[in-house]
Amino acid sequence: MTPDISVVIPVFNEEQGLPLLCARLFPALDALRRPYEIIFVDDGSRDGSAAALRKAQAARPDVVRVLLLRFNVGQHLAILAAFERSRGRHVVTLDADLQNPPEEIARVVAEMDAGYDYVGTVRQLRQDVWWRRAASALINGIRDRITDIRITDQGCMLRGYGRNVVDAVNACEEVSTFVPALAYGFASRRTEIPVAHEERAVGETKYSLYRLIRLNFDLMTGFSLVPLQLVSLLGLLVSIASLVFVGYLAVRRLLLGPEAEGLFTLFGIMTFLLGVLLFGLGIVGEYIGRIYHQVRRRPRYVVAESLGDPAQ
Ligand code: UDP
Ligand code: MG
Repeated sequence: MTPDISVVIPVFNEEQGLPLLCARLFPALDALRRPYEIIFVDDGSRDGSAAALRKAQAARPDVVRVLLLRFNVGQHLAILAAFERSRGRHVVTLDADLQNPPEEIARVVAEMDAGYDYVGTVRQLRQDVWWRRAASALINGIRDRITDIRITDQGCMLRGYGRNVVDAVNACEEVSTFVPALAYGFASRRTEIPVAHEERAVGETKYSLYRLIRLNFDLMTGFSLVPLQLVSLLGLLVSIASLVFVGYLAVRRLLLGPEAEGLFTLFGIMTFLLGVLLFGLGIVGEYIGRIYHQVRRRPRYVVAESLGDPAQ
């Protein structure tokens, strides 16, 4: 029977949490009384996650499918690997760490039944360290200004997507992307609901500050050209300012004669401009790096093994 609902779960070094997840996920989905499939994607874990997933698949071969990726490609590409193989009319993504309770899936599905093809969620009483919440507030604000994407809580990955949206996402071949933002653009009826948020059941976050910054660069560069435009705008402003400055110096020279003081002020201004220049170059580089990545057309992920795949 083709499933009505596909639940997609990326897994990276979540060995300890998986049994806890399964213990809550299966009853929550069984309670829906609808045909469903769960697609776990092991994103190149280096712990016992793959073994734990094999076990889960053996326990519930009727509903569990497992994709084992050869190497770590990151949460978003891992989700895309599952999207390409999902069959459900509704596709729901969920993290493996139980930060979003699996019991909330029912509410996401209810919204999709009501006709929404994009169901976002907003974490209530978010249980993360303060700097993560502060960074999220900042980055959500920036994204809101420089893109057309209106998502309240971009970091919450419990979300529902209609089949039409997933098909459109699958037609894209982006190598660096942010799934909720990509899907958002393809949806025709969007809604958001509040969901509970818990502390990570076990293990640690898989996002270091560095990976978090990389991810958000993917989001900004993937969905906006505003950073580039800001650089050109800044260049224009600096040119105008220096033109005024040179004009002033010329007049001053005619009236008061040459001036030779202010050497260090000059240094200060020059190093500042050098900083602006490097920053601008970096932003341009972010785009070029992604273009380079894209044009090489290497496979975005490699599936080493696929368990419980109905196509086989
Ligand atoms: N994840 C993944 N690949 C990665 C990093 C994370 O598949 O390279 C998975 C991870 O196992 C989890 C989800 O993505 O299921 C979200 O990760 P995490 O909970 O560490 O992120 P946070 O909640 O701290 O933002
Ligand atoms: Mg988490």
